[in-house]
Amino acid sequence: MITFLPLGGADEIGANCYYLNINGSGIILDCGMHPKKTGLNALPKFELLENKTLDYVLISHAHQDHINALPFLIKKFPHLKIVTTPQTRAIAELTLHNAISILGQQIEDKSFNIYSHDEVDLLIKSIDYKSYNDQFDITGLKAARGSVVTAEFYDAGHVLGSAGILIKYDDINFFYSGDINLSCQSILNGASLPKLKVKTIVLECTYGATDSSELRQWEDEINIFVSSLNNVINRGGSVLIPVFSLGKMQEILTTIYTRMEMGKLTRADIYTGGIGKKINRIYDYNRYVVNRKEIELILHDVPQKSIFEINSTEDLFIYPSIIIASSGMMIESTVSFKLSKRWLTQHGSAIFTVGYMDENTPGYKVAKARKGDSIILTDTEKEVKVQCDINNFNFSAHSKREELLEIVKRLNPDNVVLVHGNPEAIDWMGASIIKMNNAIKVYTAGIGKELLFA
Ligand SMILES: [Zn+2]
Repeated sequence: MITFLPLGGADEIGANCYYLNINGSGIILDCGMHPKKTGLNALPKFELLENKTLDYVLISHAHQDHINALPFLIKKFPHLKIVTTPQTRAIAELTLHNAISILGQQIEDKSFNIYSHDEVDLLIKSIDYKSYNDQFDITGLKAARGSVVTAEFYDAGHVLGSAGILIKYDDINFFYSGDINLSCQSILNGASLPKLKVKTIVLECTYGATDSSELRQWEDEINIFVSSLNNVINRGGSVLIPVFSLGKMQEILTTIYTRMEMGKLTRADIYTGGIGKKINRIYDYNRYVVNRKEIELILHDVPQKSIFEINSTEDLFIYPSIIIASSGMMIESTVSFKLSKRWLTQHGSAIFTVGYMDENTPGYKVAKARKGDSIILTDTEKEVKVQCDINNFNFSAHSKREELLEIVKRLNPDNVVLVHGNPEAIDWMGASIIKMNNAIKVYTAGIGKELLFA
């Protein structure tokens, strides 16, 4: 018998966290923080874990909405054993330390106890790591007699170290997709899936509501991106590209550098910096051990200047430059936010957005604006008249909705639980799965709503 209980992230892209009880073994899948909320509201509903059996935490990848609440969980339940891929462990060491200063700036309620650097160090040391396709035991201390539970990570093709998690018990297979991408990006190849029948899948639905005709193929997107970059650079302008430091930074840097090497993109100074540059090193160290394209490309060796070593923002306009800066959604007080304020007033230069922007973020307002519009980035900022070009691209690290259906088809499940998508995304996925095979039972997930499976 298996119980599945969402603690967060069920019907939205939020604080992803799910509790599983398999014949007495207690397993938590992911432990994220809500990207748009702050303080206690950003955490999964840990109170739902009171009186539950708790043994293991398995983390699918190191994005904030899948891992950043882990230190809070371990404060409450220090006996939990944590397992990730080696790459996720290495990235988490950087990103969880980095999160401390961001949390400190965001939280006004001082009674909310954030974690310390020492606690992060201890936590990272306590993480056990398993490579892809290396099965390991996760049977709990109070498991029913004779019940053995194992887990295995499958490369999810989303960011370095990302994993779909296969859990086996009594010859029954359960699969948690995490964030999954079947298509190739510039560095990472697409996901690999278990080649067996799965009884129950918990499936992400990020692009369930997005018509795939609106999403170009990765290579086609690159061609338009490169010709747009050439337009700006060749007229002497500079381009600001806000990115997430895990995943998008490495994919965009690779895309730009390889096109310059091929002679398709005019050479210009490339600026990077911050935690993304440190994550580049982890991509480099792991280039032979994960399923990568561009295996020989070492991101650290790509000629690049540091955004933090300029005298003034004006330096970035002396020669045509490409600035790859976090954060991806231009959240207040980040580098991309600060630079965007200057960029917006710079005639001849451009801001290129390359991924998803949540509504209510400065990045969303910039992405929607066009030259000549007047915009206000945040409540405390003055109105600015947009004088630079703004171009939007979509380099997606998630499966298109037809690919999500393909995952269901290949794993041939009896049950599908839809998570990590807005209500429209979940509706489209649910209706399409039933249309494809009406023998499959489709479940929607809700925080605190327990589902039972045989
Ligand atoms: Zn992710």
